[in-house]
Amino acid sequence: MDNGMIRKYQKAKLYAEERERFKFKSLTVEVDGKNNPHQVSYQNGEWQCDCDYFIGRGECTHTMAIELLLKDML
Ligand SMILES: [Zn+2]
Repeated sequence: MDNGMIRKYQKAKLYAEERERFKFKSLTVEVDGKNNPHQVSYQNGEWQCDCDYFIGRGECTHTMAIELLLKDML
């Protein structure tokens, strides 16, 4: 890495610690479930998951796990 890139990397590390800088607008994640992988997406503040539980309840293990993973960032 040249000096310019090293400075960018140091700044990136500082930014990464300031979680409030980041506002997820959309996101798609494949979550390895116990039996099958599930497709979870986030768009305009709304979660979607392709599992049966989500369809009935609007929330599921997969969406809750991602919310825990990204706490304070959504
Ligand atoms: Zn799910």
